[in-house]
Amino acid sequence: MILNAVMEDYLKAIYQLQSRTDGRVKTSEIADRLGVKPPTVSSMIEKLGERNLVDYEKYKGVRLTSEGEAVALEIIRHHRLLEAYLTEHLEYEWDEVHEEADELEHHISEKFIQHVTELLDNPDVDPHGDPIPKENLDPVEEARGESITEYDEGDVVVVERVSDEDSDVLRYLSEHNITPGTEVTVTEVAPFGMVTIRPRCEDEAASLPRDVLEHIRVRPVAGDARSEDFPA
Ligand SMILES: [Zn+2]
Repeated sequence: MILNAVMEDYLKAIYQLQSRTDGRVKTSEIADRLGVKPPTVSSMIEKLGERNLVDYEKYKGVRLTSEGEAVALEIIRHHRLLEAYLTEHLEYEWDEVHEEADELEHHISEKFIQHVTELLDNPDVDPHGDPIPKENLDPVEEARGESITEYDEGDVVVVERVSDEDSDVLRYLSEHNITPGTEVTVTEVAPFGMVTIRPRCEDEAASLPRDVLEHIRVRPVAGDARSEDFPA
C-alpha cells in the first residue's frame, strides 16, 4: 500500500491521541494536534477509511484499524530510532532531533532501519525516554509515566520521559540536568502550579510552571517512592 507522508502523519497522530484517551478520537482533536482545519481532517479520514486504516463512526470519532495501527507503529519506530541515531552518532542535541526525524521518518527503507537498529543495539527507548516499537510492531506503552504534580514535597522520583516536541523546554531542562533516568527530589510545591525540583548531584533547583511540568513524566524510585524521610 502506497501512503504519502501526510497520511502517515495522520495515522501517527491518531495513534498517539488514542493511547491517551483509550478510545475514539474526535476530528477536532486531530485538527488541533496537526494544526489543520476540521474539514481537512474529515476528508483525510474518509481517504484513510477507504484504505481500511481507520474506522470512523459519526458523532463518536475515529479509531485505527489493526492495519492502521501497524503503519502508525512503524512510523513511530522510524521516528524514535532516528532520534536515537542522530544524537548518538551524528552529534545532534536532544532538542534538535524531533524536527529532523519528523521529516526523515517517511523516507527511509526497512534495510536502513535494520542497520540503525543493529548499530544502536536494538534500544528500548529514544533520547527523550519514549518507548521504541520493536520490529514485530507490538504496541508500546505510550502513556507510560506519571505527572510530577501528583507528588508532594520530599518525594523522590526518576524522570522517565520528556516530551520531544518543544525544543526550548528540552534545552532548558537539559541545562538543569533534568533528563530521562535522572533522580529528582520535589523540594517545593507552590500555589498556582509551580513545582520546584532538584536533580540528584545538583546544588541548583529548578522551579517549573505547570505547562513545563506537563512535558515531564516520572516514575517512583524503585521501592517506596513516597518515602517522607529522604533528605530534601
Ligand atoms: Zn520526536
